[in-house]
Amino acid sequence: MIILNEKEFAEECIMFHRFYGKNPSQTLWILAKYYRECEGMTTKNIERALQNFLRSSLVQYKYSEQIWNDRIEKIVKKAKNAKLYQIDGVSITNDEMGIIQSLNSKVLERLAFTLLCLAKLGNKKYETNNGWVNLDSKEIFKMAHISCKTDERYKKISILGEKGLLEFPKSADNLSMRVTFINDNSEKILYISDFRELGLEYLKYLGGNYVRCKECGKLVKGNKNGTRKFCNDCAGYTPIRKKVVTCMDCGKEFAVSSKDNKTKRCQECKEKTKLSNNRE
Ligand SMILES: [Zn+2]
Ligand SMILES: [Zn+2]
Repeated sequence: MIILNEKEFAEECIMFHRFYGKNPSQTLWILAKYYRECEGMTTKNIERALQNFLRSSLVQYKYSEQIWNDRIEKIVKKAKNAKLYQIDGVSITNDEMGIIQSLNSKVLERLAFTLLCLAKLGNKKYETNNGWVNLDSKEIFKMAHISCKTDERYKKISILGEKGLLEFPKSADNLSMRVTFINDNSEKILYISDFRELGLEYLKYLGGNYVRCKECGKLVKGNKNGTRKFCNDCAGYTPIRKKVVTCMDCGKEFAVSSKDNKTKRCQECKEKTKLSNNRE
């Protein structure tokens, strides 16, 4: 998953005790950077914080603590000199959009648009990136909302190469590619701040019926009568939708079920109140 604002992402993961994706490694990586950069924690304390995070977010943690703790140690070490990214989005310009639309194939247009967004994000992250995209083609096509077999994927990528929109490295075992048609000097006409459904962002720009999920912001196909509000994931999870409450005693923010209108204190303060009430 491509995360633009890692600081916001980390704060959300900590607040809701949850990680994103099939396994927590990417979340742990970002949290490790967050704890060092934003909380100024030492290596040992970061490791402890990540262990606590897994304890509260991963059911399986207690059955394989040692394996996870070893993994945490490696992640924290590797993240030591890595930067926490806070990027809001990328701008697409008139010139770039013109080149994409001249492809005259909705599939290739979506692919070119997706690669353009990824290349521009790379340029924002690394000053010397120069338009390179280094991501698994499977993931690229998923974001572009194009389903096809592996060999079809490479065929489509090479068409963009033949048209001069992509360049490839000389070495055969390097599968990265460089987007050649970035033009930041042309007029900005679109801002992309969510990388989950880049193919649909493009179709929405062309006037397609797509709506942003009210809960998580993901772009999904709208229905005919225009009443759709949530993506499938969020529509299914309605009962556990959360909201943030500020504790009336200590001011700490914590999450409760959105239907909970009673809780006014965090767990800690609730227990303190209970104790003092019992004493009276
Ligand atoms: Zn959603
Ligand atoms: Zn409190």
